Amino acid sequence: MGSDKVLERSEALEKGSEKVLIQIEDMRKIYNPGENEVHALDGVDLTICEREFVAIIGHSGSGKSTLMNMLGCLDVPTTGTYLLHGIDVSDMDDDELSDVRNREIGFIFQGFNLIQNLTAVENVTLPLIYRGVGKKEREELALRALEKVGLSHRLDHKPAQMSGGQQQRVAIARAIAQAPPIILADEPTGNLDSNSTMEILQILRELHSEGRTVILITHDNEIAEQADRVIKIRDGKIVSDTRQDRMVSHDLEINQEKGMEDEKNE
Ligand code: ADP
Ligand code: MG
Repeated sequence: MGSDKVLERSEALEKGSEKVLIQIEDMRKIYNPGENEVHALDGVDLTICEREFVAIIGHSGSGKSTLMNMLGCLDVPTTGTYLLHGIDVSDMDDDELSDVRNREIGFIFQGFNLIQNLTAVENVTLPLIYRGVGKKEREELALRALEKVGLSHRLDHKPAQMSGGQQQRVAIARAIAQAPPIILADEPTGNLDSNSTMEILQILRELHSEGRTVILITHDNEIAEQADRVIKIRDGKIVSDTRQDRMVSHDLEINQEKGMEDEKNE
């Protein structure tokens, strides 16, 4: 890292008492430039601090996944800047981007993206093999992550032998095995029933309360309400950005507990 970058970084980091994690300015993404252009991101300005729990909400086609790909360094914008920890990501080559992803970000997708012929534990350890983590440490990290998502009893199950919610929990274990500070989840509950949805949201809340930055992408208002801050995107532009009262999720938890009691009383 050059000294100018270090300087940039220290200047960018403080915003009030919060440390700025993500700083995006006038980001644009044009697919198929020239013919059949799609302006998937159309001038996005966005600042996210460390330890925030943010939902990005919008209808299908509004640009959510495109934005997630940019945030996660999976793709680069057509124009605009993206500073992560104050460091300009657009200057990085593929190897540097992949280092940033491995170190900083845990990804969770709607379709789980598990490998069907591998067990839960093997699915969690596979990316650790690619990252050069030794066998013993891989297994320890995988067991710990699977325990955290409540799947210690399903270590040797393959995806087809698990429910959707369990499969998503394996995917979360895979994402958090090396304790990345940022969790990026793109419609993580899109394929799940309401009980599994609650479980997954609970896990995301826990990850947030442990000090991680959680960015949750969804088209569903009720799910977005679980976050502390809701950013609405439409036609590739941010159209609102609101912080909300934590009471919303408290209410939800209380209702859930009440539901459990009702069940017990039946
Ligand atoms: P969302 O996740 O909110 O549904 P996307 O970010 O996937 O939205 O897509 C935003 C817009 O960009 C849509 O109009 C979509 O059709 C278009 N788009 C997404 N990916 C590509 C691509 N690889 N090539 C061309 N157009 C794309
Ligand atoms: Mg999408």
